[in-house]
Amino acid sequence: MEDYEKLLDETYEKIKPISHSGERFEIPKIEGHLEGTKTILTNIPQIVSYLRRDQDHFVKYLLKELATSGTIKNNILILQRKINSQKINEKIEDYIKEFVTCSQCGKPDTELLKDKGFLFIHCLACGAKHSVRSKI
Ligand SMILES: [Zn+2]
Repeated sequence: MEDYEKLLDETYEKIKPISHSGERFEIPKIEGHLEGTKTILTNIPQIVSYLRRDQDHFVKYLLKELATSGTIKNNILILQRKINSQKINEKIEDYIKEFVTCSQCGKPDTELLKDKGFLFIHCLACGAKHSVRSKI
């Protein structure tokens, strides 16, 4: 029993969150409001330029993950149903994990490359390259 508890303690030590102080990359938060039965998102272009990703790719991902349809009009994304911003922010984080940060060094300084129908993340910080799903 003692050993088991000791093991638990050690496991706990290992999974303590690492400090993020000094991290310059901040996950952008969505801005917008609800309008009737729709959700209006006003800072999509700022987010995609911050992430250095293709707007169509990012919007397609969001719509799919949020299971809604939407249209871009004058740089404003209109979703066809009410969705709270917390949920949208979670999806943005998921997008970043999947399509922005390097799986090797964890840095966001990456680019998406297409090669023979496959999509890759190429890390500009450490040079690592790994494939991501090309169909979303
Ligand atoms: Zn890297």
